[in-house]
Amino acid sequence: MTHWVPELLAPAGSLEKLKVAVLYGADAVYLGGQKFGLRTAADNFTYAELEEGVEFAHERGAQVYVVLNSFLHDSDLEELPEFLSYIEKIKVDAVIVSDLGVVETVAQNCSIDIHLSTQASCLNSQAALLWKEMGVTRIVLGREVSVAEAAKIKEVSGLEVEMFIHGSMCMAYSGNCVISNFTQGRDSNRGGCAHSCRFEYSLDFSNIDSATHEQKNAYFMSSKDLEGIRVLPEFIKGKIDSLKVEGRMKSPHYAGTISKVYSSALKYYREHGHVLSEQMLEWERELRKITHREYTQASLIKPADATSIYSDREHEQGDYTIAGVVLEVVENDFLLVEVRSAFEEGDDLELVPFDRDSVAFKADFLIETDGERTNRSRPGILLKIPYVEGAKQWNLLRSRDSR
Ligand code: SF4
Repeated sequence: MTHWVPELLAPAGSLEKLKVAVLYGADAVYLGGQKFGLRTAADNFTYAELEEGVEFAHERGAQVYVVLNSFLHDSDLEELPEFLSYIEKIKVDAVIVSDLGVVETVAQNCSIDIHLSTQASCLNSQAALLWKEMGVTRIVLGREVSVAEAAKIKEVSGLEVEMFIHGSMCMAYSGNCVISNFTQGRDSNRGGCAHSCRFEYSLDFSNIDSATHEQKNAYFMSSKDLEGIRVLPEFIKGKIDSLKVEGRMKSPHYAGTISKVYSSALKYYREHGHVLSEQMLEWERELRKITHREYTQASLIKPADATSIYSDREHEQGDYTIAGVVLEVVENDFLLVEVRSAFEEGDDLELVPFDRDSVAFKADFLIETDGERTNRSRPGILLKIPYVEGAKQWNLLRSRDSR
C-alpha cells in the first residue's frame, strides 16, 4: 500500500539547477523568464532555455511553473500577452502570479493554470474564495499561515494549497516590503530586493536605560531560515498539495541537496506511512551541509516570535561546498567534471548520487582535457578525476568547506 504525499516543488534559478533539481527528485520546479519575475539577479531563462527546461522536466515526469509575480505597471503589462502565448505553446504547467492585473491578463489570454504567489499574502479562506472567482487554481499561502490554518483554507476554498517548507524567510509579510526601495533605490516588489533586512542596523538607546541585549541586537530584522522536515507528517495530515523550497538564486549544491533530502523523506513516507527518527537525523545532517542560516520552523506550527530572529551573527553556516558537476562518466576509467570550486590532487571529495548515500573518495589524479596532469584545479575548467562506481551525469561533487 502506498500513502498520499504532497508534491515537492524546487527552485530552478537556471537550466542547470532545473536539471539538478529534477534528477535529484523534485516533482516540479519553478523558474523565471527574463521579465515579470521577482529575482532580477537570478540567471533567469531565455526562450530557448525555457523550451529545453520544460522538455527536460516533462520527459522525467516533472512539472514546470513560471513566475510572473512582479507587481506590474501598465507599461510592463503590454508585453505580457506575447510571453503568455509562448509559454502556453511550450506547455508550461502553471504561472505563479501576485498582481490582480496579471491574474486578469493571464485568464484572458491563455488557459495555463494560475497559482497565486505568496507575494499576494493570501492568509484566509475568504480571500482564497475571491481569488478562486478570478480564475486562480492554487494558492501559495503566506508564510505567516500555519499548517493547520492552511488545511482549513483548502477545505473551505476547494483550492489547491502550497506552503513553503524550506529556505530563506522575509521578515516582512511575504515580501511586502520596501526597505530596499528606500535604502538602495531598488524596488522589492519588482525584483529588486537587496536583502536589506540582513544588514546591520543600530538603534539609538541612549534614552532607554532598560534595553535588553535582544533589543540592542543589530540584526533584528534578519530571520533564521525555514526548515520543515520535522513538520512533514503535519503537511501530509493536512493534505497540503505542494511543498515549496525557496532559493532560485542559491547554488546547484543547494538545489540538488534539498531536492534529494525532501524527495527521499516523501518517498519514505509514501512507502511506509511514517518517518523513522534515525532517518530524520540523517536528513537533518544533510540539510546542515548546505549553506544556511540557523534553522527555524517559523510559523508552520505556531506564530513565529523573537526566537526566529537570526540575532547572533550575520554569517551563514554550511559544512560543504560544491566542488564540481559530473559532465561525463567513462566507466571504470574517469569522470569528466566541470570544476566549481578549487580542489587539489589528493583531496577528499564526495560524490552525491541521485538516489543513495554519498560516496567518499580521493581525487588521486587530476588530468586536464589536453592530457596534462595537474595538482590543482580552478573553477570553470574541465578535469578528468578518478571514476566512482555508480556515478551519473549531473551528479554533484562536494568537498568540506575550509572557511
Ligand atoms: S529586504 Fe528582507 S524582508 Fe524585505 S523583501 Fe527583501 S528579504 Fe524580504
